[in-house]
Amino acid sequence: MRQRILIVGGGTAGWLTAGYLAKRLSADLPGGVAITLVESRDIGVLGVGEGTFPTIRRTLATIGIDEAELVRRCGATFKQGIKFANWRHVPGEGASDHYLHPFQVADQSSGLELLPYWLIGAGGSEGWDTVATPQKKAADAWRAPKLASHADYVGPLSYAFHFDAIALAGLLREQGIANGVRHLVDTVTEVMLDADGAIGGVRTEQHGMLDADLYIDCTGFRAELIGKAMGMPFRSCRDTLFCNRAVTAQLPYPDPNAPIASYTISTAQQDGWTWDIGLAARRGIGHVYSSDHSDDETAERVLRAYLGPAGAEAEVRRFKFDAGYREISWHKNCVAVGLSSGFFEPLEATGIAFAEVAAGLIANLFPWGGDHETSARQFNAALRRRYERALDFIKLHYCLSERRDTDFWRDNVAAASIPDSLQEMLDRWRFRWPNELDIDPRTDIFTEHSWQYVLYGMGWKTDLTARAGALRYHEDARRAFAEVCQQAQFAIRNLPSNRDLVQYAQRGR
Ligand code: FAD
Repeated sequence: MRQRILIVGGGTAGWLTAGYLAKRLSADLPGGVAITLVESRDIGVLGVGEGTFPTIRRTLATIGIDEAELVRRCGATFKQGIKFANWRHVPGEGASDHYLHPFQVADQSSGLELLPYWLIGAGGSEGWDTVATPQKKAADAWRAPKLASHADYVGPLSYAFHFDAIALAGLLREQGIANGVRHLVDTVTEVMLDADGAIGGVRTEQHGMLDADLYIDCTGFRAELIGKAMGMPFRSCRDTLFCNRAVTAQLPYPDPNAPIASYTISTAQQDGWTWDIGLAARRGIGHVYSSDHSDDETAERVLRAYLGPAGAEAEVRRFKFDAGYREISWHKNCVAVGLSSGFFEPLEATGIAFAEVAAGLIANLFPWGGDHETSARQFNAALRRRYERALDFIKLHYCLSERRDTDFWRDNVAAASIPDSLQEMLDRWRFRWPNELDIDPRTDIFTEHSWQYVLYGMGWKTDLTARAGALRYHEDARRAFAEVCQQAQFAIRNLPSNRDLVQYAQRGR
């Protein structure tokens, strides 16, 4: 008999998992699994989550979504990284304060590792983000990461997308159904546990009892299966990451041909930060803050100040969350994906990325022989490690700040808020730069390149004086930096603007 998966929840996590597993586990073939997704009409989706990570390209390609269709249907635009402003200093105090965390890894075409040469000054006075790859200069000039003639999800510069989250869930739904997922609109009212604590079935309002071999909890923060029914504990990380509220708004462009930024703009604020995401027809802007350090009225004032006069009438939406995750996301025959498993905060767009990771792990560890225990053990260990490492990476942005203007920033650099694992890495990086030994490429979401961009963007100093004599290829390094600079000029001359590429896709190829 075919194995049956029941996914409860039809937000981004539910439909992404459904469409992906349908492909990876051949839902449309006799030997594959049968997948049903049940989503409530009465309980809405969260409807935020507009920034993604480059892994989304492979995920969407696997699901079978066409890139131009994504752009047309979801207002999607091309994202090449995240620009951080005012994270180091209070505005007005000190030099201009911004850096990019680009998706493109540092140029390696010369065969030379360039970072140590930049650290000893051979790259000139520009930041590591600017000299390591052509991406920052190209994105600063509003360029897209690719030409219209490039194939779906492929480009000379690495990229992800910004998109409208509600529209994306709709597109994923359509594709999921096309991939063979059975769709039910109904509310789960009760989760039945059998004698050994596994799920025996779920009761719905209109379709009676539904049962399956594997249940996937995609019910968002409600965590109806893994949390409420099975009682798997949630590990709060608020002692490390303080932000737990967001207030958001949408802003139309002043004119329909206004340029579209090809990165998320993250601007540090007194008690948190704002995101600014350019979609095709509007910008999505949100202010993330800590309720221990600010209140809702102040936060809305900060958001409105960012929006300026054009946003005076903008409607705002409010969100509450608690940074943390479940150490056991797979228990017995139930696995949580998306917000029901965990969420830190919007910084670095890890929400959807974690759903992608979880879906990939489920496909690889699917218990074909019925051994849930082994799959669960491996899944939990793999996911927990990714959570721990992503937590460190997100905290890195805060704890290196030189801002001391509010308790929020002062508390963020307090030793008690910095995980030991992060402190240990920082200690290592006083005399050597982050390299592949610090990273497990099979599990870490953020590679050494990401750590380097943020670390040095935040002004970290790695002292190489003791090793400077061993860095003998100054001339080669200078030539390589000049080559990156030329690549940037070439990219600016030849790549279309983000707006042009979006319009091209909208017109249909
Ligand atoms: P939801 O969207 O909440 O969906 C839950 C689903 O479960 C719904 O379909 C609902 O109907 C269903 N459901 C619930 N209970 C029942 C029931 N009893 N019976 C049947 N169905 C039920 N992530 C990013 O990657 N990038 C970002 O930029 C980003 N920004 C964010 C900003 C904020 C302020 C927040 C809070 C989150 C952000 N995230 C971001 C996270 C992102 O929004 C989520 O990862 C993503 O939306 C997935 O949510 P979900 O599908 O798990 O839950």
